[in-house]
Amino acid sequence: MINYKLLTPGPLTTTDTVKKEMLVDHCTWDSDYKQITQQIRAELLDLAHVSPDEYTCVLMQGSGTFGVESAITSSVGKTGKLLILSNGAYGERQEDICKHAGLNYRIQHFHYNEIPDAETVKAILDEDPNITHVSMVHSETTSGILNDIESIAYVVKPAGKVFIVDAMSSFCGVEIPVAEWGIDFIISSANKCIQGVPGFSFIICRLDELMKCEGKAVSLSLDLYDQWKGMFDGKWRFTSPTHVVLAFAKALEEMKQEGGIPARNRRYTENNRLLITEMEKLGYKTYIDAAHQGPVITTFFYPETANYTFKEMYEFIKARGYAIYPGKVTEAETFRIGNIGEIYQEDIEKLISIYREFLASKTEKP
Ligand SMILES: *Cc1c(COP(=O)(O)O)cnc(C)c1O
Repeated sequence: MINYKLLTPGPLTTTDTVKKEMLVDHCTWDSDYKQITQQIRAELLDLAHVSPDEYTCVLMQGSGTFGVESAITSSVGKTGKLLILSNGAYGERQEDICKHAGLNYRIQHFHYNEIPDAETVKAILDEDPNITHVSMVHSETTSGILNDIESIAYVVKPAGKVFIVDAMSSFCGVEIPVAEWGIDFIISSANKCIQGVPGFSFIICRLDELMKCEGKAVSLSLDLYDQWKGMFDGKWRFTSPTHVVLAFAKALEEMKQEGGIPARNRRYTENNRLLITEMEKLGYKTYIDAAHQGPVITTFFYPETANYTFKEMYEFIKARGYAIYPGKVTEAETFRIGNIGEIYQEDIEKLISIYREFLASKTEKP
């Protein structure tokens, strides 16, 4: 058995009890199973602070990107124009989605360590009336920055545009009042802050905007409208990832037992602060400043004076029980440490002691 915990932003470490749910081969046509799906959909609406009169939740097979691609391609379609606000690789991936689907889009780049600002967005919307939709990432896992979707919503909604948010690594790790902020489509997946296993994504959709998606999709399997129509009684349109669904139902139950979103946010935030404080004592600096650092993953500069490679550091830590992550920002040498998933204070403390041991082994004279 592999014996390490994941300090990566997905896949991430899950509980044994969540994994055990997958030992059953569940049938899908009967009411038991459809009931599980319906229950999951209803709970996700509650977690998003929306009412079923105004919103619905669609589950979509595949990883998180499948959900983002489904929402963008089904709602923008061939007739709309999407403004993408990007400050990381997941924003850039939305551009890639548009290119593949042949959608009309415009991308506004922001530096990876800066958040998209409302004034810039307002100016673009004033200047380009063809824009119908605006999309952005909430927690940019590329760097760990937490974008301010609320301030952007306040310029997107008065302008009458559809607002799409990739909240993959923030949904349930951070409170998001979806209805209050007027978000029309918000996407996350089974294997991020809810701590299920990978295999499906979910899209919380404002019903009146979802209705407008009929016939717009450019892909059969990612057609959000058809997936929703097919799922009305809890039946999945194509083969359901049954094991993943059972594990996810358990993960939701465990999140409730922990104390819901507030408790999860507290655990992630406290572990993240502890990690940063202790890493700074060891001489590592963060790429994102404290004001914008999100609670799930941290990018650290790779020290210029280091007499070791990332691979050496990674192997040393992995042999002692933890897998960390390479950096993804383009202009600097960095690495990342995630604290999303079944990770506790003792794990952070253990990681820090492994770092101390590693750094000591590098300063000893041979
Ligand atoms: C994890 C993640 C995704 C989805 O990635 P997949 O590899 O397709 O699951 C999308 N956006 C963000 C911000 C993410 O963190």
